[in-house]
Amino acid sequence: MPDTLSTAVTDVVELTRTLVRCESVTPKEAGALQHLERTLKPLGFSCERMDFTQAGTDDVANLYARIGQDKFGNGRHFCFAGHSDVVPVGDLSSWTIGPFSAELSGGYLFGRGAADMKGAIAAFTEACARFLARRGRDFGGSISLLITGDEEGPAVNGTVKMLKKLAERGETIDACVVGEPTSSKRFGDMMKIGRRGSMTVDLVVRGIQGHVGYPERLDNPIHRLSALIEALVREPIDQGSTHFQPTSLQFTTIDVGNKATNIAPGTVKARFNTRFNDLWTSKTLLAHLKERIERASAALGGNGTIEFASVEVSGESFYTAPGPLVELVAGAIRDVAGVECELSTTGGTSDARFISRYCPVLEFGLVGETMHKVDEKSAIEDLKTLSRVYETVLDRYFAA
Ligand SMILES: [Zn+2]
Repeated sequence: MPDTLSTAVTDVVELTRTLVRCESVTPKEAGALQHLERTLKPLGFSCERMDFTQAGTDDVANLYARIGQDKFGNGRHFCFAGHSDVVPVGDLSSWTIGPFSAELSGGYLFGRGAADMKGAIAAFTEACARFLARRGRDFGGSISLLITGDEEGPAVNGTVKMLKKLAERGETIDACVVGEPTSSKRFGDMMKIGRRGSMTVDLVVRGIQGHVGYPERLDNPIHRLSALIEALVREPIDQGSTHFQPTSLQFTTIDVGNKATNIAPGTVKARFNTRFNDLWTSKTLLAHLKERIERASAALGGNGTIEFASVEVSGESFYTAPGPLVELVAGAIRDVAGVECELSTTGGTSDARFISRYCPVLEFGLVGETMHKVDEKSAIEDLKTLSRVYETVLDRYFAA
């Protein structure tokens, strides 16, 4: 564990470096939450570890820290959500700088999690420190940090269960910003106000195995599958909606495993993933896709069958209509960084999909260009600017 753990520093750069040095690859906590707790407590936050377990998944450590009015008071509750876990480093030999050394070089802070998203956690912590130093604890509401160690993994023992626990004991959140690295090319150019849903489907197509020389005696499932793929991808699923790109469907694998040259197989498996917009729910989309597949299969005739062997929905689409929260954050970005922020719904899923069931939520953070890549980095200047943006958001949210 880094020796800096003994001193709680709220300087955004130093705090990010300390967090990056904790090798918290999902589901390891590796001292990251522990250090955060040690930093937040002296600021007056009450810290609660919310560790969850579930059979078949790794145990996960999470941290919920809150300051301000009594949790059942009438003051508004602003929540910052994020994750302290990081994705694996991948090919270590491709890194030019140690992924957990948190080196500063050429105006950047390098390391796994610098962008996604330890930098944002540090920026929000520093923002809180400055806000509380000026306003004191009696600022008319409460601020919390909801930090999970399970965002880059299965996301089962993290944000979902934390939110459920808060709801069960009557704690409500009025607004939430997730610190994902949403900026695209330059700091402040993009926030996410929604995300597409994601669903993965495993198909098993069965036919009749047989000798390739006797096609009349077999029913080739590969041919059937190719017709099904055609039926799914030929026509666009939709044209997109006001706030979203068109729904996309991509086959990710086809598995036959047939070594013989003279046998047509009896079974073929395939998998596709779809990223769907707000014109669908996973249910309505699945029904639509099934209908397309069944129609195509019926047109082929024969005895082949199609089974939806597994359907995994990792998130429904969500959307926060531009309103007070979006305007507040966009205004802070404009005034602090001088950048007009695009409101986007592109990209992968994030934990914001769970939070959207409870309160208005948006995502805003650092430039995500190097996230999940080798030599992940954040501009030191951006870390400082992000912290000032978050501070301005708090100031205006709790305007006297
Ligand atoms: Zn992330």
